[in-house]
Amino acid sequence: MSDVKRRTKIIATIGPSCADETTMKAMVEAGMDVARLNLSHGTLDDHLQRLGQLRTIAEVVGRPVGVMADLPGPKVRLGSFEEPANLHINDEILLEPGDGMSSGHHFVVDYESLLADIREGDRLAVGDGSIVLEVFDHTSTSLRARVLYGGTVQGRPGLHIPSDRLKLTTPTEDDLRYLDAMVEHDIDMIALSFVRSAHDVRRVGLEPAPRGPLVVAKIETRSAVENLDGIITESGAVMVARGDLGTECSIQDLPHLQKSIIARCIALGRPAITATQMLESMISAPSPTRAEASDVANAVFDGTSAVMLSAETAIGRDPAHVVATMASIAQRADQEFNYDQWGRQLKRDHLAERQAGDLAVTDTMTLATWQAAKEIQPKAICCISRSGFTVRAIARFRPEAPILGFTPEDRTMRQLTMSWGATPIKIDRIDDNVTTVHNVLEIAKAQGHIRAGDIVAVLGGSSASVNATDTLRMVRCP
Ligand code: PGA
Ligand code: MN
Repeated sequence: MSDVKRRTKIIATIGPSCADETTMKAMVEAGMDVARLNLSHGTLDDHLQRLGQLRTIAEVVGRPVGVMADLPGPKVRLGSFEEPANLHINDEILLEPGDGMSSGHHFVVDYESLLADIREGDRLAVGDGSIVLEVFDHTSTSLRARVLYGGTVQGRPGLHIPSDRLKLTTPTEDDLRYLDAMVEHDIDMIALSFVRSAHDVRRVGLEPAPRGPLVVAKIETRSAVENLDGIITESGAVMVARGDLGTECSIQDLPHLQKSIIARCIALGRPAITATQMLESMISAPSPTRAEASDVANAVFDGTSAVMLSAETAIGRDPAHVVATMASIAQRADQEFNYDQWGRQLKRDHLAERQAGDLAVTDTMTLATWQAAKEIQPKAICCISRSGFTVRAIARFRPEAPILGFTPEDRTMRQLTMSWGATPIKIDRIDDNVTTVHNVLEIAKAQGHIRAGDIVAVLGGSSASVNATDTLRMVRCP
């Protein structure tokens, strides 16, 4: 596998450094498959405007670009600091619920249940988690805490309250308002922050994809790790949100949680995203640290479907260059990936427990496709799919042959931008199997994916009316 296309997808966060069309277009050209709008910052109107601009850019570049709106969830924040404050070990800080400005020894917290949720001995993290306080006194109006790890605070930093203490649940009322506006504007993916259970995911109450957006559950609380299978089953994709997860769990557990969450998610046929601090130093530096380059490659080896950039592109000095750097590291790792071992392990560890109904048919058909492809080595696996479900199901085996996902649905096209190895291709409609296979081969040939004489695997339904993937054909391209 030398001159293969990149198969791991890239998600990049849009922020002040890249809010103009020229930079966003450069990011798409550098390899951004999905743009993330982080609703924790900026106004809804700004995000809707960027969504519109991204749609235009995708049109101009001639490639689908997915857009993911990331809902803030119950994020507790401190009132603004007028100027940066330096916190030192053992400094004493008074915390009070309310509105107003914070200072170096007085934090105003925008969360009214603060005093009810927190107990003496609790640890609270500020900002990205590098500053930690320990609560040592609790009165009827305030908390007193001591600085365990110091640093500089500025702006309006988040205050991380351990999620098993927090009464607030996700999605919040603000989230649901943002969600309505985004759905009205045809958003492709919605990310839910601080999910704790499958019930939280059900509360978004969206139509299943592709009619509704793909729901991405961010795994960043302890409860989410405990309720992982239920959450994955209710979701369209999962994000290993290492920023908050690293605060909630022991840091030495994080790399292993990343591996197990990804493995479980892929086995259940959902894309898995690895997020946060992947190329952090490139916020200001022109090249990544060696550890960061390894982190991106190792996420690929863990089986991640997509790798994500946050501050690196949102507030970084050269967003398109960061995307290009991540793309080249991911592509190189894709070349070294052990495809055969991944598929065998998936079959051995995860496919023993088949699901009922149509899912069992898809499991069997995609397993058969993967096995047949190992024998016959087709030039491509063409997958005909209305919702994208079958494309995601075959992608989980990590077949060596390119996966071409043919669909008549525009939203499925854009949702497949997040699926490992999948090239989404538009077809007018799904007819009977013979007609559709003929059309699909013609399009794949015209676009240069295959040539006359190539053996190609085509996976789809036997007829337009059968809503199941029940037919695999191995055809020689005419
Ligand atoms: P955030 O989520 O960037 O919205 O906090 C990702 C994470 O916690 O890693
Ligand atoms: Mn987070």
